[in-house]
Amino acid sequence: MKTYPMTINGKAIDTGRTLDVINPALGRPFAAVPAARPQDVDAAVAAARAAFPAWRATPHAARQAMLHALGGALEANMPELMDLITRETGKPLQGLNNVGSGMELGGAIAWTHVTADLPLEPEVIQDNDQARIEVHRKPLGVVASITPWNWPLMIAIWHIIPALRAGNTVVLKPSEYTPVATARFVELAQAVLPPGVLNVVTGGGDIGAALAGHADVNKIVFTGSTRTGKRIMEGAAASLKRLTLELGGNDAGIVLPGADVPAVAARLFGVAFHNNGQTCACLKRLYVHDSQYEAICNELVRLARAVRVGDGLDPQTELGPLQNRAQLDVVGTLAADAAAHGGRILSGGKARAGQGYFFEPTIVAGLSNGARLVDEEQFGPILPVIRYSDVEQAIALANDNPNGLGGSVWSSDLQLAAAVGKRLECGTVWINEHGAVQPDAPFGGVKQSGIGVEFGRHGLEEFTAIQTVKIMKH
Ligand code: NAD
Repeated sequence: MKTYPMTINGKAIDTGRTLDVINPALGRPFAAVPAARPQDVDAAVAAARAAFPAWRATPHAARQAMLHALGGALEANMPELMDLITRETGKPLQGLNNVGSGMELGGAIAWTHVTADLPLEPEVIQDNDQARIEVHRKPLGVVASITPWNWPLMIAIWHIIPALRAGNTVVLKPSEYTPVATARFVELAQAVLPPGVLNVVTGGGDIGAALAGHADVNKIVFTGSTRTGKRIMEGAAASLKRLTLELGGNDAGIVLPGADVPAVAARLFGVAFHNNGQTCACLKRLYVHDSQYEAICNELVRLARAVRVGDGLDPQTELGPLQNRAQLDVVGTLAADAAAHGGRILSGGKARAGQGYFFEPTIVAGLSNGARLVDEEQFGPILPVIRYSDVEQAIALANDNPNGLGGSVWSSDLQLAAAVGKRLECGTVWINEHGAVQPDAPFGGVKQSGIGVEFGRHGLEEFTAIQTVKIMKH
C-alpha cells in the first residue's frame, strides 16, 4: 500500500506514523498518508511565513503564469488524480449526469485558469486637483485552508488558487478521509512553486484545530460542517483572523404548479442525487404542489430504482457508495426516523448488504418541516418530497431552516419563478437548475451556511486586505 507524501517547505516529510485511507466501495484501506504532529503544523506555518515576502513581491504576471502551470500539472496528471479521487471518495469516474471524478478534475482545471486570470488592479476613487485616492488590495499573509471529504481536490483548488493569486502563502489540511489526491497535487505543485508557498499537513480534526488556532496564520478558509465552522470561528477570535466559512446546506427546491413532470423530475433527480447527495448545494428538500405531488413522486421513484449503484471504478456506475461509515449511519438513522414518524419510504430505505458503504437511493413522501429528515442536512441519497397547497406556504417552509446556502424554483414561467426565488433566504438561487457553480460567479451561504463568498472577483477579494492610499496634490 502506497504512502502519499506530506509536503512542507518543498520537501516530503516522514512523521514515523501513518493514517490509512479507506476505499469506501470496499470498506478497506488502499493508501496511507503521514500522520502530522503538532510540530509539523508549526513547521508548515513557519515555511509559509518565510516564503511570504518573496511571493508577495513576485509580479502579478509571474504569479499568474505559475498558477496556469499548476492547471497544466492537473491536466497532465488527470488519469492518476481521477483514479485516486474515485478510490478515496467512492464517486464514479463519470457518474450520474457526468458528475464524478472527471468533473472534479475538469472543475479544478477550469477554476485554476479562470482564477489565475482575475485582475487585481487598484481602484481609483478620486483623482482631481486636490487629491488622488487609490484602493489597493494587499495579501493577508499565511492562509490556512481546511477542506472536507466530498469534493476534496476541487475544494482545495477553490481555496488555494485565489489565495496564491492574491499573493498569500498557504498551509492546507485536507480531510483525514480523503487526503490522497490533494497530497499528490501538492507534491506535483512543487515543480512549479517556490518552496514554502504551498504546504500540506495530513491529519484529523486535532491537526485542523492546531492549524486554525496557530498564532501565525492570518486567514482561515474552511469548507465543512457548520459545527466545525463555529469552533473555528471561536478559535479565530484570539488573533482576529480573517475567515471565509463555506458550511452546511439544506437546500430547498420548490416546483410551481403546472410543471412538465417527466422533464422536471429527471433534472430534480440529478441535482438531488449526484455524488450520492454528498454535495453542499445538492437539492435536499423538495416542495411540490398538491396537484403534481403523486406524479412527481412516482417519476422520482422510477428514476431511483433505475439508477446504477456500484463501485465508482466501473464505468457503468452512476452512484457510488457513501464516503464513510459514519455518513452511512447518519443516512440510515434519518431513514429509520422518517419511517417511524409518518414518512412513506417509496424506494430504497436501507443500506446494501455486503462490502462497502452503499445505501439504496431513497425517496420519502409524507413528511414536512419538523421531521429530522427535512430539518437536518442528510448529505446522502435520501430525498424528502414535501406537499404544499399554496406558494406562500412553500416559501415559508423553504425559509424555515437555519441554513441558507442555495435554493431553486422550477417552472416554465421564468418571471414568476424568479420572483419566488428572490424571496428565498439563501446565497444562490437557481431557476430550473440547482447547485450549478462557475468560477466567475460568487457563491456562498447566508444564515448558518457560512460567511463570505468564493469565486470570481468577489471571492478573490476575500484573500486580501484593503489599503487606501490618499495622495494630496497641494
Ligand atoms: P467536517 O466539519 O467534519 O470536517 C471538515 C474539515 O475540518 C476536515 O478536514 C476535518 O479534519 C477538519 N476539522 C474537524 N474538526 C476541526 C476543528 N476543531 N478545527 C479545525 N478543523 C477541524 O465536515 P465534513 O464532514 O468533512 O464535510 C461535510 C460538510 O461540509 C457538510 O455539512 C457540507 O454541506 C459541507 N460542505 C459545504 C460546502 C460549501 O461550499 N458551503 C462545500 C462542501 C461541503
